[in-house]
Amino acid sequence: MLPPRFCGIKRNNRCGKEGIAVPTAYTEVYRQTRGGVHLLSRTRFATLKPKRGERAQGTIPVPGVDPPWDLPAFVVRGAKDGPTLAVTAGVHATEYAGIAAAIHAGRTLDPQALRGTLIVVPLVNTPGFYERTMYTNPRDGKNINRVFPGRARGSASERVTHFLTEELFEGADAYLDLHGGDMVESLIPFSLYQLTGKEETDARSAELAEALDLDYILAVPPDALRGGSYTAAAALGIPALIAEAGQQGIYDSAAEARHARGLGNVMIRLGMLDGTEQRYGIPKRLARFAWLYADAQGLFYPSVAVGDLVQSGQTVGEVRDLFGKPLQTLHADVSGPVLFLVTALAVNKGNPLMGLGTEEPGRSRAG
Ligand SMILES: [Zn+2]
Repeated sequence: MLPPRFCGIKRNNRCGKEGIAVPTAYTEVYRQTRGGVHLLSRTRFATLKPKRGERAQGTIPVPGVDPPWDLPAFVVRGAKDGPTLAVTAGVHATEYAGIAAAIHAGRTLDPQALRGTLIVVPLVNTPGFYERTMYTNPRDGKNINRVFPGRARGSASERVTHFLTEELFEGADAYLDLHGGDMVESLIPFSLYQLTGKEETDARSAELAEALDLDYILAVPPDALRGGSYTAAAALGIPALIAEAGQQGIYDSAAEARHARGLGNVMIRLGMLDGTEQRYGIPKRLARFAWLYADAQGLFYPSVAVGDLVQSGQTVGEVRDLFGKPLQTLHADVSGPVLFLVTALAVNKGNPLMGLGTEEPGRSRAG
């Protein structure tokens, strides 16, 4: 059987129909890819001039953005050929555990032990970082993770996402985007990928989700979250996941370690590193995300904790006014774990308050 061809290698998609096969031995299949050498030569990450068996680092300006938006980047090019893994963090600027794990990986991964290429952008939302901006990019007020794949002539966030889609995703064999609970969110670790209907992409994403070894795996249907990084990459046929660990604007070394271990496992699974995957537990699979939102501005009093298993119909919290009068009673409309929970007392109309994961089929409500 011919080895599968990888959509990431070709621009403008899209693998030819022939030659695509559902991999039965994932690692072996990846070892047959051409690796990062050719791919890097066609992206701006090549301007860092990574040499075989070495690490390069520097900043890459996003084209057409004024004032300049420089992305920090590491390119670790292995001594041997293999797949290209792209990693981003800090799309949300206060999700610190993923940012720290990405920097550590870019700085310490031994290129002599690596097959293929690791490209790391450890902080995408540079304008929001020192501002400690939650959810959005302060340049245009947009949530970067809702505007992928972006536009070449769009706002600052749209240009950044366009750049990442064109220059990073299209050259990658797999993609990880490291997140966590934002400044006002508690969270239990989980991974998220979008089902595309492309059997081989979905199968590879599922394998990498397992390798990430977070508590839950959420494989969401295409109607779930629009404009996400992993959505844009998966649409190109690239296995793509969000890894969520860490919470509440805290730099937490234990959460950083969860990200680091997941990233290491993914590289082992891809055949980029030798070794044995480190296991924390067996992730539980969920079918969709169901978010609950505030109907009014007010004070949010949750009656559940993050990680709790709730039942459909259960009261999970209340929004009250400044005199304590109830404005909204929140009920779970699915059964499953509370994956994230807003911990700020102050909430605005339309804000997400919590995200439940469920095994029940149906339409996701998230975003
Ligand atoms: Zn995030």
